[in-house]
Amino acid sequence: MRKALLVIITAVCMLFTACENISEPAEEHSKDWFAMDTFMNVTAYGDNAPGALEEVWSKISELEDMWSVTDEKSELYALNNLKNGGTGAVSTETAELISFALEIAERSGGALDPTIYPVLTAWGFTTEEKHVPPPDELSQLLELVDYRAVSVSENTVTLRDGMMLDLGAVAKGAASDAAADILRKHGVKSALLNFGGSIMTVGTKPDGTDWRIGIKNPVGDGNIGVLTLSDCAAVTSGMYERYFIDENGTLYGHIIDPKNGYPVNNELLSATIIAPEGRLCDALSTAVFVMGTERAETLWREMGKFDMLLVTNSGEVIVTEGAAERFTLTDSGKTLKVIKK
Ligand code: AMP
Ligand code: MG
Repeated sequence: MRKALLVIITAVCMLFTACENISEPAEEHSKDWFAMDTFMNVTAYGDNAPGALEEVWSKISELEDMWSVTDEKSELYALNNLKNGGTGAVSTETAELISFALEIAERSGGALDPTIYPVLTAWGFTTEEKHVPPPDELSQLLELVDYRAVSVSENTVTLRDGMMLDLGAVAKGAASDAAADILRKHGVKSALLNFGGSIMTVGTKPDGTDWRIGIKNPVGDGNIGVLTLSDCAAVTSGMYERYFIDENGTLYGHIIDPKNGYPVNNELLSATIIAPEGRLCDALSTAVFVMGTERAETLWREMGKFDMLLVTNSGEVIVTEGAAERFTLTDSGKTLKVIKK
């Protein structure tokens, strides 16, 4: 009798243990916003996700309020409209992002230049009246473009008279870093963030496999391939995101070559950078798009710390060896070229 009772108790205990081990699939929570001039989506899994998503949203609004170039109440607007000889106080986060943009400007030989704003406005990219500016207007405005004339000391930023900053090339990546930090702080183990082409992944998918990120065909519909990622960012720059076509059918994109003030016109159709840090990916995707394949390859060899995937107008998809391990080409019309250190 005692033996039978022991068997029953053991069986019940085993049943409870077994029940504990069968974990419920983590529930999906998703939120969409329009912020920083783009559509944003965050999909996060688990019980902590709803609270984390609320905090992510308020952080994004806070960052947008600081970094918008057009909002008259933003820190950047105040800095761009200084009347006191070019020195202004900003928050620590803004000072850090400006310093970071200046660092990548230096490393990229000025391909990324956060002082591009006066030229960008001449093209009408920040307003809705996009047009080709006269060459003499461009050459005059180019005198105001020089990242080396900007200095940051703690919370003080100094600009040369008339200069204006634009953080559009780095802000979404930086925002994705801040959002990922918040999700992790809330204990979220699995999330996918898409900030208008700036992708950030937290952990893996809830089933433990990598996230699958489609790489857009820059000149058509659909994707050209798939990247698999976990705990990593991937940011793409290309003309197809924002552009206008003039009466002659010429396409002008929103990424400007600071050397001549004109939209980039090289062999690249898109540039994707893959690295753990979103702001690095964002800064480098813009820089590499300006630099073109050859200079981008040199930068990759010099800097390391990132992988890249370049789509060219001759049908090539050029990937660094680290990216090759994570990329599957699905477009049979393109050829894959792997570059090695
Ligand atoms: P992204 O989409 O990250 O490549 O950033 C492009 C945005 O950065 C543009 O919409 C402009 O606001 C700004 N931008 C354009 N050209 C440059 C450049 N050469 N350096 C820095 N920012 C730029
Ligand atoms: Mg960028």
